[in-house]
Formats: sequence, structure tokens, C-alpha cells
Amino acid sequence: MQDLLWHLPLRYEDRGTVVPIGSLRPDQQALIDARVELAEVVRGRRPRLVVRVSDGSGQLTLLFFNFYPNQIKQFRRGVRIRAFGEVRPGLVTLTMAHPDYQLGEPSPATEEAGLVPVYPTTEGLNQTQLRRLVRSALELAQAPGALDDLLPPWLRQELGVPPLLEALRLIHAPSADADLAALVDGSHPAVRRLAFEELLAHHLSLLRLRQKLQEVAQAPRLTGDGVLRRRFLESLPFQLTSAQQRVDAEIARDLASSRAMLRLVQGDVGSGKTVVAALAALRAVESGWQAAVMAPTELLAEQHFRNFSQWLGPLGVEIGWLSGRMSGRQRESALAAVASGEAAVVVGTHALFQESVHFHRLGLVIVDEQHRFGVHQRLALREKGERDGLQPHQLIMTATPIPRTLAMTAYADLDVSVIDELPPGRTPVTTVAVPNTRRQEVIARVRAACAEGRQAYWVCTLIEESEALQAQAAAATAERLTEELPELRVGLVHGRLKNAEKEAVMAAFAHGELDLLVATTVIEVGVDVPNASLMIIENAERLGLAQLHQLRGRVGRGAVASSCVLMYQPPLSAHARLRLGIMRESNDGFEIAQRDLELRGPGEFLGTRQTGELRYRVADLVRDAPLLPQVQRGARRLLEESPQLAQALIARWVGSGERYAQV
Ligand code: ADP
Ligand code: MG
Repeated sequence: MQDLLWHLPLRYEDRGTVVPIGSLRPDQQALIDARVELAEVVRGRRPRLVVRVSDGSGQLTLLFFNFYPNQIKQFRRGVRIRAFGEVRPGLVTLTMAHPDYQLGEPSPATEEAGLVPVYPTTEGLNQTQLRRLVRSALELAQAPGALDDLLPPWLRQELGVPPLLEALRLIHAPSADADLAALVDGSHPAVRRLAFEELLAHHLSLLRLRQKLQEVAQAPRLTGDGVLRRRFLESLPFQLTSAQQRVDAEIARDLASSRAMLRLVQGDVGSGKTVVAALAALRAVESGWQAAVMAPTELLAEQHFRNFSQWLGPLGVEIGWLSGRMSGRQRESALAAVASGEAAVVVGTHALFQESVHFHRLGLVIVDEQHRFGVHQRLALREKGERDGLQPHQLIMTATPIPRTLAMTAYADLDVSVIDELPPGRTPVTTVAVPNTRRQEVIARVRAACAEGRQAYWVCTLIEESEALQAQAAAATAERLTEELPELRVGLVHGRLKNAEKEAVMAAFAHGELDLLVATTVIEVGVDVPNASLMIIENAERLGLAQLHQLRGRVGRGAVASSCVLMYQPPLSAHARLRLGIMRESNDGFEIAQRDLELRGPGEFLGTRQTGELRYRVADLVRDAPLLPQVQRGARRLLEESPQLAQALIARWVGSGERYAQV
């Protein structure tokens, strides 16, 4: 019953008004009331049943291409017929193909009269059947106790929406004076009521899940004595920004509690998340526990390893390293250091959750660039750390800013901290879009930038997912650029290089021994070379906003003015033009994320974590975003005041398969 009721019409048809045949126009949808004059089956390549009808004002031909052998018998001469359909031009008269029709004297209030909803449907289920089903669901729902209104009156009032049954009637059986446009675009209070209820239910399920997790998930209190942290901060050549300090304090509060932390740190590229992560790791170490730092790619993990070694090594903190590509002996000694606790901080890739990895006392898991990890990988790491009933705290860092509204809904099971400030002295990156017919100008820019002692990236993109093809293309580009820019030292990185080779190239670039780094999108996340001030992205029109923003974030990390050149293959599609325009206008990751959300919709936007989980039945996160603050407030109050209602809402909309139950 509920499945039918939450299945909302796409649009409505007016079947209440009979139109005289004489005044019909092609392309109009209309109801006619006439009598059958003749019916015959016309043979031919496409046999069809042809029924000529007339209402005194004119003649109309009804056409049926799929018909039953016996169907012709219904259309006796003189029988009255009401038909609704789309009017088309014809040879002799206007026509109507496959109209919905009713024979005999019309009953005054049939289900097919008046305003009729048109539903999304599927093969084998026609509109008439579906309408009938929804009708009966609507009737069933009227029975006392059949469908409770789960929104308390205070909430309904605050929202200005009708009670549930009334809302459903307005949607599925609107009266003649209903505001159909609002019903279709979702701004009608009846639709808003359902969308709100659905969003509320999902939000509640996440909140409750977090409650449950935190009830069971006891974690070690990581207070630390602050000694290592103080020495670390003193060793840094800069002061923390106030946003970094705030987020650090939020994390510190969580870590000091015996409830397992589940915190997401969002910060735009270059906002300085790594330092914050290091401070959290030190707190674990000071308290006698280990911290694991996990990155999605080998390159990023290596960079974290280098950073952590440089920062924490001098303080006497042993940093462990685990990668999938490690060989026998090396791997064994790494594993031993992790198991004995000798490695106080362990950095690595997915290799961190292989079965052979045993931690001595894992107190904190830090996951960088979380959107690339699946929920299951996070779960695996959490279990890995479980010991004597204690679970590690979890800190997740993402450089993909999620619009605030969306974060509330998508991450209600996590606490969210935002580093919403860049370190001082950064100048915004200037972005231009250039057709690849002007490649020579772009090369001249690279030459000029490098002549001034700056460095540049040249990113090759290929739609093919194959690393081998990407590598080939990047190699070809590097070769060509070496010829075109003979005075420059050109390096190349791609996913197919051996680890050591890749590391050597990156290190050479970081140390200024290379001027131009040609790369595939492997450098998308995290890589940090402040002297690089020019970013060229080839075929930028193929990339999404989030990825473009990430790539561009590789420059603008020092004090020099940086620029980003988006090369594209004309002609641009409307969508691509829009994307490149947004990149030119804004440097703000949150704003870009918001536009991205509007362009792509939430499902694609959130990637792995949310795929399949944000498929709402009624709600639409972009359309209904203004409701989200109320959803959030309402959910909290409801959970406190009426937990049974909350439970019933979750059961109704989310069902028993509480999606994150395993996370
Ligand atoms: P992201 O948030 O993108 O991971 P990083 O942590 O890589 O950013 O930091 C980017 C750069 O900014 C690094 O070189 C880092 O050392 C530097 N940095 C971080 N915090 C500050 C700060 N408060 N002041 C100046 N530079 C900082
Ligand atoms: Mg980073």
C-alpha cells in the first residue's frame, strides 16, 4: 500500500472536459464523447483496428495497432464511446492512436474522469491498472489505523503542510481547482510534506545509528600530556590558522572521551588538513596508543609518510610504512614493527587492512580522502583495531567539500568539522579556458613561468580507464613537450611507473630539479609542491568539477600568483561550457561543490559512499535542500520527545535494512 502511495504522478491530464470533435486541433490531448460509426480491421504490413466515430460536430478516427481478435466486436455501430488521447493529423479525419476509452453510458464519477494522474510506469503495467491500484491503496489508507500520521502537529504546523491522508489525496486525486504546476514541481505543501517526512526518516536513522554505535563502541581515552604536541608545533615554520586550531580542539575533545570518535574533517585543497591529522596522531602516541594513517593512493600515502617522518621523526616517534607493493623481508619487518607497537604511527594504503596486519594498540584511525574508500574498508579497519572491547577512534579527512546542506543529510552519522580558512599569504589561482588550437600559446606560458624559476604541471586526461593507455598518452605528451621546450627539464609520472621511479620523479620535482611535470590524473589529490605555480589541464572538458578543483589545488600553494589553464577540444557541450565557466569564476571548493551538486545531482556527487543510498522516493536533495535545516532540528527534537514516532518513521521510509548498520 505504501509503495503505491509514495509513487507520485509525473503529471496530470484533464479528462473532465468533453471537447467537440469539430474543434479538436492536432497535438492536443482531449476527451471526446461520440458514437461509433464503423469499425474494421485493415490488413497490411501493420494490421490495425480502425474505428470511425462521430459526435455530430465532426468525425474522428481511432487507431489500434495492438488489438485482440475480439476487440472489434465491442465497437458496434451506434454504441456510445468516451475516449481520451492525443489528437494527430490523419488522411481523412484527425486521428487518435491507442486512446483510453470507455464504452456505453458514462457513469457520473468514474476513476478515469476529471483530473487524472499520470504515473511513471514500466512495461506490462499500464496507466489504468496503476491508477486503479493507487486508488485502492488510497481507500485502504483511510481505514482507521491503516496509515498513521507520523508527523506531530507542532512539526506540521511549523512546516505549514497538511495531514498525511489529506496530502495523499491532494496528490493522487486532486480536485479541479488544484495547483497542478506546484504538485508537479514539488513546491505544493502536499508534496513537501512527503519529501520532508522521507528526509526526516533518513536523518533519524543515521542519528540513531550513531547513537547505537557510540553506545557499544567504547574507545580508549586519548588525553596525552601535550609534550610531543607542543614540540611539534614549535618546530613548524608557521602558526596554525584559527580554523585549524578550532578543528584540532574539536578532535581533542572527542579523543579524550571514551565514546569512539566518528569525525569528518572537510577542508578545501591546501587548507592544511595534514597538520591537524598529525596533531591527532600525536595525541594517540602521547597516550601510549598507535595511530594508523590511510591514504587512497600509493603516491599520497608516500607523501604522508614523508611528512610524518619529517615532522614526527625528530620527536623520536617511529613511523611505520605499509604498502601493497612491499617485498618479503621488508614487509615482514614492517609488520613486526606494527605488531610490537614500535611503529607508533603507521602510514599506508589499503594494505593497512590486510589480514596479516596486527596492531599492538591501535587507538586512532585517520583516513584521508575518504570518498575513495568504500564503507566496507572503513569497517575493516575499525574491526582491525578492536581489542579488549575497545575500538579505535576514527578521523576522516576529505578535500572534496560537501555542500553544508548535503553534509547534514549524508553524514548525519558523523560529526563534521570544517577547516574553512586557507593559510595566510595564498593568492587565488587565476583560471582561463583555452581551446587546444591555441596550444602554442600555452607552451609559451609554460616557458615563461619556468624561466622565472617557477614550476608547472601538465596533466593529460584520457577517458579510458586503462592505466596503460593513460600512461602511453602521458609518455607521448612528455616526449612532445621535451622537443618543444628543449631548455626545460621535463619529468613524467603515471600509474604504471614503478614505485621507486615515481617517487624519484616526484622528489625531483619537489626539490626543483624538474621544471615541468607531465602527469596523469594520479596527481589529482594531495601532492604538495609550493613552488609550482602553473597548472595545465588537457581536455579539461572531460573532467568533472570536483576533479578539476582538486587538480587546480596543486598550485596556488605558495605566495606567488598561480594560474590554471583549462585546455579544451572545441566545440564544447553546454554542460562542459558551464563547468569550465564555474571553474573560472570560483576558487571556493564549497561553492564549486554546491554548483556541482546542482549540475549532477546528489547520487553521482557523493560517489561510493552514497551510491544507492540516496535514492529517495519522493525527496529530491537539490529541490528540497531548503527543508534540510528543519529536518535536522525536527529530527533532534523528535528523537528526544517521541522516540516511538521516530522509530515508526524509520520503519516506514528506510525499512529494516538500516543502511549503515555495519559502518
Ligand atoms: P590539504 O588540506 O590539501 O591536505 P596540506 O595539509 O597538504 O593541505 O597543506 C598544504 C600546505 O600548507 C602544506 O605545505 C602545509 O605545510 C602548509 N600549511 C598547513 N598549515 C599551514 C598554516 N597554518 N600556515 C602556513 N602553511 C600551512
Ligand atoms: Mg591532503
